[in-house]
Amino acid sequence: MTSSEDRPVRVRFAPSPTGKLHVGGARTAIFNWAFARANHGTFILRIDDTDPTRSTEENTQIILRAMRWLGLDWDEGPEVGGDFGPYKQTDRMDLYRKAAMDLIHEGKAYYCFCSPEKLAEDKRQAQLRHDPFQGYQRTCRNIPPAEAQARVDAGEPYTIRIKVPLDRGDVVVHDAVHGDVTFNAKELDDFIIFRSDGTPTYNFATVVDDSMMGITHVIRGDDHLSNTPRQIMVYEALGAPVPTFAHISMILGPDGKKLSKRHGATSVEEYRDAGYLSDAFVNYLALLGWSPDGETTIVPRDVLAREFSLEHVSKNPATFDQKKLDSINQTYIMAMSDHEFSEKILVPELRSAGLEPEGTTLHDSSWYDLLSSILKPRTTVMPDVIGKSRFLYEGDEVALDEKSVQKNIAKPDTRSYLTAAREALAALPADGFKADAIDAALEPVPEQLGTNKRKFYGALRVAACGNMVSPPLGPSLELLGQACTLARIDRALPLAQ
Ligand code: GLU
Repeated sequence: MTSSEDRPVRVRFAPSPTGKLHVGGARTAIFNWAFARANHGTFILRIDDTDPTRSTEENTQIILRAMRWLGLDWDEGPEVGGDFGPYKQTDRMDLYRKAAMDLIHEGKAYYCFCSPEKLAEDKRQAQLRHDPFQGYQRTCRNIPPAEAQARVDAGEPYTIRIKVPLDRGDVVVHDAVHGDVTFNAKELDDFIIFRSDGTPTYNFATVVDDSMMGITHVIRGDDHLSNTPRQIMVYEALGAPVPTFAHISMILGPDGKKLSKRHGATSVEEYRDAGYLSDAFVNYLALLGWSPDGETTIVPRDVLAREFSLEHVSKNPATFDQKKLDSINQTYIMAMSDHEFSEKILVPELRSAGLEPEGTTLHDSSWYDLLSSILKPRTTVMPDVIGKSRFLYEGDEVALDEKSVQKNIAKPDTRSYLTAAREALAALPADGFKADAIDAALEPVPEQLGTNKRKFYGALRVAACGNMVSPPLGPSLELLGQACTLARIDRALPLAQ
């Protein structure tokens, strides 16, 4: 038998399209992708859609879209093809049937005609006599093949069961994350590989696929660890090399319970729509259970693709930490140039909010670059830019926040602040209405008026920007332009005292 280590690395991500791609699935996909890339191997995407009641084509498309958004390019699979296809289990039914028939002919599997009632009764009896073996009692195991075939031909309902060798002994899963995990032989019965409705079970279809596709490493969630001894039985029956298994831990919510809808967003789409960058999201998910050294938090995609290894995967559950995701997203945003931020985040977001027209822009690129420079440090997720830019799109009639007006304009002496600010700003030449010049022109005014800076700038900020939470004043006024700034001050003056 060949060891999986001798073969070129081939891994697969095999989602069931019974729902969207969730965070846990995405993390499994990332580990598989990174492992393939780090080992110059092949990353396969396979759609496990054998559950016809819950699998939909729509979910398959959602998963493919999410994979593309995550940037996890697959070398073989739907839409890209490959030599080991088809890559959808429903298109492989003949292969499973043939594999099962071959096992029957080789005496490694057999037809079982036991009714559900008989199985339930056998189980009850085994419990009553405290039989340490509580599994299928192997009733049909010794039916002579010709007799079994005759019953099948006569139309009797049947399942197909694997014949686990009676002397097989305990099954040890050599897991790259959990170490050796031993499963007691008593837990292994002759389990069903084909149901009476003619569909293969997960444990059978998966192994037929993994062996036919030459999978060398099975990296998946540890909810499948308990399936693995059965899958090893199938590999042994097929005479196929057993791959290396790596079962990765669950992802928990902050309350220590398995991450679920109760904790908020769980699908990849929701994070995309909330405005996380794909690179940052992949970086964050990769750190859920893996780390190059236990400390580094910024692991760009190319580093991940070079350095990922199963040795550094932790067997302990990982906790989803929204704050850490936010901080990684901010780090990726800050690493962008102003221009990149403008093109990839600012303008698209302003368009989607209807502030900028489709296909063109209202300003020249230096305007967006300046706005980007002040918004970048204030952006956690992409849509943050909308609220912080809106005041620039309201013309002379900026919406004045009532509370801000009460606190900053409807106060004694504010008329003199606004008048003095207006004078200083009006004195600047039209082509010199720049952030630095604006700041320099305003700088001496509070002292000249004998007031404190907070009151002076507060009144001006609310008059020009409409509220107190706008970005820094100099660049904000430059972006508004001189005429608009003066018009907004004029409009606020009647509210001042
Ligand atoms: N379709 C299975 C799942 O989504 C795949 C499990 C496996 O990787 O073997 O859980």
